[in-house]
Amino acid sequence: MAWDIVIAGGGFGGYYAARTLEKAMPRHSARVTLVSDVNFLLFTPLLPGAAAGTLEPRHVVVPLREQLSRTDLWLGRVAGAEPDRNRLLVDSLDGTRHELHYDQLIVALGSVSRTLPVPGLVEHGSGFKTLSEAIALRNRVLWLLEIAETVGEAHERAEYLTFVFVGAGYAGLEGLAELQDFMSDVIDLYPRASVQGMRWVLVEAKERVMPEVAPDLAAFAERELRGRGIEIRTRTTVEQITERSVRLSDGETIPTRTVVWTAGVRPHPVVARLGLPLTDGGRIDVDETMRVRGRHDVWAIGDAAAVPDPARKGQPSPPTAQHAIRQGRRVARNVAAVLGAGGRVRPFTYKTLGVFVDMGRHQAVACTMGIKWRGFPAWFLARTYHMANMPGTKRKARLLVDWTVSLLFSRDTSELGQLGHPPELEQYGGGANRDTPAAP
Ligand SMILES: Cc1cc2nc3c(=O)[nH]c(=O)nc-3n(C[C@H](O)[C@H](O)[C@H](O)COP(=O)(O)OP(=O)(O)OC[C@H]3O[C@@H](n4cnc5c(N)ncnc54)[C@H](O)[C@@H]3O)c2cc1C
Repeated sequence: MAWDIVIAGGGFGGYYAARTLEKAMPRHSARVTLVSDVNFLLFTPLLPGAAAGTLEPRHVVVPLREQLSRTDLWLGRVAGAEPDRNRLLVDSLDGTRHELHYDQLIVALGSVSRTLPVPGLVEHGSGFKTLSEAIALRNRVLWLLEIAETVGEAHERAEYLTFVFVGAGYAGLEGLAELQDFMSDVIDLYPRASVQGMRWVLVEAKERVMPEVAPDLAAFAERELRGRGIEIRTRTTVEQITERSVRLSDGETIPTRTVVWTAGVRPHPVVARLGLPLTDGGRIDVDETMRVRGRHDVWAIGDAAAVPDPARKGQPSPPTAQHAIRQGRRVARNVAAVLGAGGRVRPFTYKTLGVFVDMGRHQAVACTMGIKWRGFPAWFLARTYHMANMPGTKRKARLLVDWTVSLLFSRDTSELGQLGHPPELEQYGGGANRDTPAAP
């Protein structure tokens, strides 16, 4: 009888686990089911490019059905698990609750933005972790630019033209840098806003930006951003956010309509409902082979799991795609080994090879195998690296086309927030929206 292998989560870890299992398990020896709430893998390193309009949103995702040939994709939301009965509880798209049986379960449910109890954050802050958040942010900044253009008073206009990012890890820094670059490109089309100018502020609680990279590279990135007029406030926290302002711990209240929260991640809340042991940080407690402690048939990887970091004794692996990918591959081989398909169960041994931080405008910082890069070479290296890692020739080609077009032509300024939100049919009748022309 074929084994049932279930993978929860179709991001970096889950996708690479499925792909490796397709190769590692002999044909018909196992049914591999990948449960995901979306039918694509979001290639997060390219999310800032999508937010800045350099890349088409569809070109920064990988459709799972196209890439996985022998894996059964089950679209639904993991709601919990009963490990003693070997069951994963999944709510399908039509709302039906299913109990999926597994012989081996791999949990790769990723993370969500880590929020803090800052008054007003949930109501007025935006995240920058999902595709919808990135595209909504792009639409929002364009929308605010349009409003600013129609506002009479300069002091009122300022709050529409001020953008505050909180958290200066690479995700926050890249997001801010790319969006600021985009807005600098398009603001000339808005005469009043362009005369007034924009204000961009990066707030960071620690003493420097990007703790993930060496201090001299972080200093280079900081200089580059300051050179663009971006204010960087280190050793500063946010105390309150309202619809029209943010108050900082240094006493300043900045008038703004946009606060983007990029201050770290925490495991997806559903991991707490799987009946598995958790560490203090809320990640699933696993050993160095990624097997959940106390369980012989459950494994956990990626941002959701505290996989011991081979590079830093006693620390969990950092929440990065490069770790999740390697953990996905290794865990698949370990599962195959347990099921008798060859090999041995081995520990996760990957140590970070490099880090890239793309700041747009042909500027980046990078560190690869101990060699530090900055400026244009780092930017070129970052793009080459991301393209090499994008699965599928078709998608690699699309990236290349998008990047080439953005080098040659200016960026699109259409605000398409209405996409995916069509008006109700009733509006075309004689009701709420009489001026809207009737559909042909
Ligand atoms: C803006 C940004 C830029 C980044 N840049 C880089 C970079 O340059 N380099 C790098 O190494 N890392 C980068 N990262 C970090 C990287 O994205 C994560 O570390 C990586 O995605 C973790 O992989 P994962 O498989 O654990 O989780 P994910 O890739 O997040 O996958 C989790 C999957 O589970 C699905 N899921 C969640 N909940 C459920 C549920 N209840 N039911 C079903 N499915 C569910 C999600 O939809 C998702 O598909 C970046 C992150 C962000 C936000």
